[in-house]
Amino acid sequence: MNQIPNFLLERVRLTPNRIAIATDGEEITFKDLHNRVINLAYKFHHLGIKDGSHVSVLMNNSIEFIEVVYALHYIGATSILLNIRLSDDEIVYQLENSDSEFLIVAKSNTVKIPENIKLLNINEIENSKSKEFPIKSNFDGDKIATMMYTSGTTGFPKAVLQTYFNHWSSAIASVLNLGLDHKDVWLVCLPMFHVGGLSTVYKSAIYGMKIVLTNKADAHTIKDCVKKHNVTILSVVTKVLNDILTIVEGTNELNNVRAALLGGGPAPLPLLQKARALNVPVYQTYGMTETCSQIATLSPEYMLSKIGSAGKALFGCTLEIRDDQRTCLPKEVGEIVVKGPNVSKGYYKLTKLTDSSEYLYTGDLGYVDEDGFLFVVDRRSDLIISGGENIYPAEIESVLLSHPDIIEAGVTGKEDPNWGKVPVGFVVSKSSNPPSQEELIEFCRDKIAGYKIPKEIFYVDNLPRNATNKLVRRELLKLL
Ligand code: ATP
Ligand code: MG
Repeated sequence: MNQIPNFLLERVRLTPNRIAIATDGEEITFKDLHNRVINLAYKFHHLGIKDGSHVSVLMNNSIEFIEVVYALHYIGATSILLNIRLSDDEIVYQLENSDSEFLIVAKSNTVKIPENIKLLNINEIENSKSKEFPIKSNFDGDKIATMMYTSGTTGFPKAVLQTYFNHWSSAIASVLNLGLDHKDVWLVCLPMFHVGGLSTVYKSAIYGMKIVLTNKADAHTIKDCVKKHNVTILSVVTKVLNDILTIVEGTNELNNVRAALLGGGPAPLPLLQKARALNVPVYQTYGMTETCSQIATLSPEYMLSKIGSAGKALFGCTLEIRDDQRTCLPKEVGEIVVKGPNVSKGYYKLTKLTDSSEYLYTGDLGYVDEDGFLFVVDRRSDLIISGGENIYPAEIESVLLSHPDIIEAGVTGKEDPNWGKVPVGFVVSKSSNPPSQEELIEFCRDKIAGYKIPKEIFYVDNLPRNATNKLVRRELLKLL
């Protein structure tokens, strides 16, 4: 059996009195967290949760959420972390699809859940009885710790099986790249029901590092948290980074930050350049729910020379670009395939994820340069084929975003009788007197080939985004 140390218990053995988590109103040490976890785990056990139970959790980022996740780990149950922004029907679908026996919530729940699923409100079980069980000092590495649904950016979310070994390997590979300082504090402003958030919770125990939790991911909240808690590392998506850079321009508010990990979607070059000009150390990273967070990240020493790249596969991971079964040449675009100890073995109840050589076909297109650095191009499913030419929406979005008045951009393909599809753009402007559609089209003209220039550009107030603030391109045409 592949044994992994019980993350939290091992941390308590080593440095029990360090702060594990800080929120706006509370700080808690690893020892206190562990005591609260045990207390909760015994209650859950009394209420019928057992080793192997499937337990869904529908909660906001909070210390209680982390207590619930560890309590379920201590018992040996599988946690299914549900997105709090799902509709009632979607929640019911995911509860049934994941064979959940329990649903844990933190506030009174209005969702009508199937009768065979037991609802537990953690605020109402304080007086529940407890049933003790021995807390194991190791996790079985091959056991499914969590099941997490993908963001649903391209279609129906899929339930990814994530083992303890996957999570452990992800945390180790990340620190071998970023390094660790005893002053490190990592801000978790991504939701913990997505892997970008949850992976940082595990890093906290494995590294002995304080994390700061916030439910809001707006630029002002993040800026305030960075200052108040001396945050040194944070994980962000494009929109949030853009907002942050806008409000910190000309200040030294982010001086303490040694790494802002940017991932989850395309990283437009103008944004990276702006960060560089403001001396904000942005590390582009590439990963997905299926790789339990990062699989490639640009290393600090290449931040300037390889700007735009998502780096190399992390220590112990491999990455290739393939076209069918053939490995592409440097600079040739193909599908990104990845392999590593953090890569999930599959989706729940669906076929295996990886091929016979354990490579995961990511559905993302990219290329590596002659030095082996990855450049993510776009999702294959968002590719626009216009008159036989391949058009990558991210490239056009990046050009639109380089216009000083444009703060958000989304591009998708619209049916066209002559070309099959043509690119159309949707933009958000911060200016009260934004450029006209013709001016914007003209702006693109000397920057990209004619067939890539959006045939129409529409101003909108907001772009469709999912719970992780990712642009949902398949919904852009609904804005018309
Ligand atoms: P779904 O699979 O349900 O459509 P999703 O792919 O958005 O949703 P996640 O697992 O949260 O779900 O996101 C992973 C995806 O995010 C990657 O497959 C890739 O398309 C995109 N992504 C992550 N990092 C980058 C990056 N640096 N550049 C471009 N795209 C990225
Ligand atoms: Mg995906």
